[in-house]
This record gives sequence, structure tokens and C-alpha cells, in this order.
Amino acid sequence: MRSVVPDYLTEALGDVESDTSGEPAGYIPELAVADPERLGAVFATVDGQVYGAGDIDTEFTIQSISKPFTYAMALADRGFDPVLAKVGVEPSGEAFNQISLEGDTGRPYNPMINAGAITAHSLAGSAQPTPAERVERVVHGLSAFAGRRLTIDEAVCASELEHAHRNLAIAHMLRSHNILTEDPRTVVDGYTRQCSVLVTTRDLAVMAATLANRGINPVSGERVIPEPVVRQVLSVMFTCGMYDAAGDWATQVGIPAKSGVAGGLIGALPGQIGIATFSPRLDPHGNSVRGVSLFERFSSDMGLHVMEVPAAARAVVRSNHVVGRGPDAIRVLQLQGGINFAAAERIVREAVDTAPAEAEVALDLTMVYSIDDVGRRMLLEVVRRLTLDGHEVYLVDPEAIMPDPEPGNGGRITVVGDIEQVVHSRIR
Ligand code: GLN
Repeated sequence: MRSVVPDYLTEALGDVESDTSGEPAGYIPELAVADPERLGAVFATVDGQVYGAGDIDTEFTIQSISKPFTYAMALADRGFDPVLAKVGVEPSGEAFNQISLEGDTGRPYNPMINAGAITAHSLAGSAQPTPAERVERVVHGLSAFAGRRLTIDEAVCASELEHAHRNLAIAHMLRSHNILTEDPRTVVDGYTRQCSVLVTTRDLAVMAATLANRGINPVSGERVIPEPVVRQVLSVMFTCGMYDAAGDWATQVGIPAKSGVAGGLIGALPGQIGIATFSPRLDPHGNSVRGVSLFERFSSDMGLHVMEVPAAARAVVRSNHVVGRGPDAIRVLQLQGGINFAAAERIVREAVDTAPAEAEVALDLTMVYSIDDVGRRMLLEVVRRLTLDGHEVYLVDPEAIMPDPEPGNGGRITVVGDIEQVVHSRIR
């Protein structure tokens, strides 16, 4: 049987192909001559499966899609506070190349507009890298996200630098506010090199999937950035990634995203997939026309909106029963599914309402597939309180799904692989 996913992608490309509205970016002469008919789409799953249709291996320059990744590097290299002191996280509602900064601080509004991205570039690399070392840090970092060594398109870079008056004006303004602390021309040069990194649609989908996969590249297995950085980057992509179209995008598509003026567009759906499209004609916001249509379609066809409320999970307490009789009786709460805050609350309530009369209580995790941090802490607190109430508590956890099962503060727990183990030890 053929997979349904590439066929779906091919069909989606067919539907948008006839739309020739918009124009390739005109302000970078090398981009204006790109073949406007190119069209591709790729899905990369968080377990590393890549599906594509159309021009998925054609190289083009990454442009602004480099911004969230370089912001991630700055946060990872310098820490949150130094970066937040220089770049805000507020949607500007303005065009990507608007010459404007926050009135009081002189900070750029966010790292997705050029002012913030130029600043983020200046913060990549730890300590005091030379401009060349900083560019290498950025290209190396982008390559880790893509899972292969990326290169710079020198022709596009030179072409953009010849016409970089706006970015230079922004950089000089940043220098005057001491947001940039070095020669503005050097920073714009490095930022332009960053934008000129060549990628394919396939690369972009893997880069997005690395964000969707909590910072681990699902193809190479490399941890590229720490988890707290991923959350920050996805949040900023969600609110600011599509510039002055961010509100429309957040409501209609609802996928943290970033566009580039060469025609690339990425979206990262946390825990599910990275998506990338490529089509060079742009709308007035500077976003790919056919890319936006494709994302609208992907979102509505497959319910990929991040605000889509998930169907309520099946009851986390699968059964609440007693095994054995008399003094040997054990109260068993058999749990199932994933345990997050809401599920843990349900378990707490079950334990409170049951007020078990049996001396022994077992929490059976055999059918649980994940426990997040709050779920773990709440379950261990239930264990601790049951201990303090005089119960002997067992955790049935054959696959060691509960990390570090230590209730602390007077709580006691015995981890077993099977409820039968407890029953038999009682009989003996
Ligand atoms: N290099 C481009 C610029 O700074 C990137 C803009 C974009 O892709 N939106 O103008």
C-alpha cells in the first residue's frame, strides 16, 4: 500500500498551482530573477519521517526563516535575560522592515522583524566572537537544525548587501540606542550572510520538526537547543512570525510559523510535525501566496490549529477495584493514558473519594504511556498522603514510566512490575 500522505501533498499542490498572484521579492535583485513557478511542500514528523511533493530538493535562500533559529541560538548562548534586555517579544503589527523601535528602551519589538533579528544575530555565540566566528556559529547552528552542512549563496548575499540601505538604517538606529554595541555595517553584513544560507524545502521541514520535537532533530537525533528555548521561540513565532498578518494567521491557520522573502514558509506544530512550503511569489506582507493557501488548507483539513481543543481523553482511572480478601486485600487504582495536570487531578479525586479501607493500595501504571512533570509530582504527593494515613503503597510500573519514584517527606513507595507480585508476597 502507498502512504496517503505524499498523495495528499501532491493533491494540495495541484490545487494551488494555478494561483499566480503576487510577485517575487523585488528589492533583492537576485531573488527577483528566481523561477516563480517553483512549488514544493514537505511534512517531517517528530519521529523523523519525511514526506514531500513537488520541488523539495531545490535550494533557495532561507531569508527571514533564519530569524527564529538565530534567536534560539542567542537565547541558548547568552541566556534569556541578556537577550530579553535587548529584544522584546511584542507583536509590532508592522511590516518586517519597519524602521521603528520601542519608544523608551530603544529595543526592537520582537526578534521576527528585521530590527530584532539584526540584534539577535549580534547576540549569537558565547563570549565575544569575531564577526566571522559569529557567522560560523549561525551557519553551524542552522546546519544542526537541518541535519546537514548548509552553505551561503554569495551571489544573493552580495546582491542584498548592495541594496541594504534600510537594514543599515535600522542598524544605525540600534547602535545609537546602544542595543548594538559594534559597527552597524559589520552586523548587517553578518545578518545578510545569515539570510543567504541555502536550504531546501526538505531542510526547512526538518528544522521546523526540530522545534516541534522539543529541540531534538528527529532525523539526526542531535539535541540542537534546550527545551525552554523552544517554548520561547515557538511563542514568538506564533505571535509575530507572520508580521502584520500575525493575527489573521493565528486565528485562521494557528500554527507557529515563519516566512522568508525567497518564498519559503515553515510551521511547527508542537509534538506533531514540522511543515515547509516553497513558492516564490509573495503577498503584500512578504509572505508566500501559495504557501499561505497551503497552510490554510493543511490546518483545516487536518485540524492542525494549536488552539484546537483535544478530545477529552478516556477516563484516566480505568478501574478502581479490590484484589484479595480480608486483611490481604489490596485496593488497586488501574490508570491509563497520559497523565498531565487534568488527569492527575482526576486520580487525586478518585483517591480522596475512595478513602480506601484496605491497608494496601496499588497505583497500577501498566497502561499509562506518559507522565509529565506535574503529573508525576501530584501522583507522588498522593502516595505520600496515603502513607501518612497509614497505607502501604505500591506502584505497579513494569516499564519504569515514572521517573524517580521518590515521594519524600514521610512518603513510602514500593515499585513492582506486576500486581501479582504484591498478591503473592502477601500470601507467603
Ligand atoms: N534578508 C531579508 C531582509 O532583511 C529578509 C527579509 C524576509 O525574509 N522577510 O530584508
